[in-house]
Amino acid sequence: MRDGFGREIDYMRLSVTDQCNLRCRYCMPGGGASLPDHDQVLDDGEIIRLCGIFVSLGIHKIKITGGEPLVRNGVVELVERLKKMPGLKSVTMTTNGLLLADSLDRFIKMGLDGVNIHLDTLDRETYRTLTGMDGLSRAMDGLSRVAAGGIPVKVNCVPIRGVNDGDLAMMADLARDRIQAVRFIELMPIGQGSREEGIPIAEVKRNIVEAYGPLMPWPGTLGNGPASYCQVDGFRGKIGFIQAVSHGFCEACNRVRLTADGYLKLCLDWDLGIDLKAMLRTGASDSEITEAALHALEKKPGRHGFNSTGAADRNSRDMHRIGG
Ligand code: SAM
Ligand code: SF4
Repeated sequence: MRDGFGREIDYMRLSVTDQCNLRCRYCMPGGGASLPDHDQVLDDGEIIRLCGIFVSLGIHKIKITGGEPLVRNGVVELVERLKKMPGLKSVTMTTNGLLLADSLDRFIKMGLDGVNIHLDTLDRETYRTLTGMDGLSRAMDGLSRVAAGGIPVKVNCVPIRGVNDGDLAMMADLARDRIQAVRFIELMPIGQGSREEGIPIAEVKRNIVEAYGPLMPWPGTLGNGPASYCQVDGFRGKIGFIQAVSHGFCEACNRVRLTADGYLKLCLDWDLGIDLKAMLRTGASDSEITEAALHALEKKPGRHGFNSTGAADRNSRDMHRIGG
């Protein structure tokens, strides 16, 4: 399917819950998220039905996200159903990794196409301060096991001033032999993220070069998105950089988001979209939903407005209610 600017949209980020077992301070409000009424969240049947419609429209890749997707009851069965959906070429997940070990065998067996593990530090105390939980060793255990199980793993790290400044070169070292890539993601001024100061990617690169030598551009792509990759001599994995704020890549945007409460969100930075849950629950047919989704897609914004202010219809959700 194409949007009003002619961009081909073949990738959907599917959030299956707003809830999380961590409280990363740039993502989730300190007190956590208030529990939505159970019936505000799409049930498995509704998710499968909407995904079926989107796949028939040309969505070929789905990333399961949250909140923390692994805290949703029955998520493994849900992912299994998506893996079996005809026409869907890739089902991947982004997770903090804490609960991965519990379901890993089933993810390996069903052929999950990739896992992104979000990890911002390798220092136990920094992890605890940033996330509110003493969970580093469990996250590392999840990471090691999933990598050993043969599922392609990427690590995503958000560099934040005063938090993980000293850890960035160490994080890059994970790409030496264990995983496909370590990616550094520019902090986006969304929700709690607007209260923090991100570390510029140029500074991250300087740290890596000082520690390991030159970063050589690698022209390939890995996965669904906008990361640019580099190689470091002696490393098997790549180092990636995702610079949504300073180097917008909106002209190549290929994605939409379906939130846990059934909102088709057209752009990370704008509220624009359509409430598909309301349509589902008032008896809309598949063709009515299709028509409404395509109509909404024509209005997908051309670009984010992270570097501007104003505009009333800018995004109003915290990141854990979008899915990244
Ligand atoms: N809990 C899962 C996880 O952490 O991967 C999935 C949801 S989380 C919202 C998805 C990604 O969004 C994580 O990699 C997280 O670091 C990133 N993220 C959250 N808030 C962000 C922000 N303000 N700017 C950039 N990335 C952010
Ligand atoms: Fe949870 Fe992921 Fe947000 Fe951290 S970034 S609070 S793990 S949803």
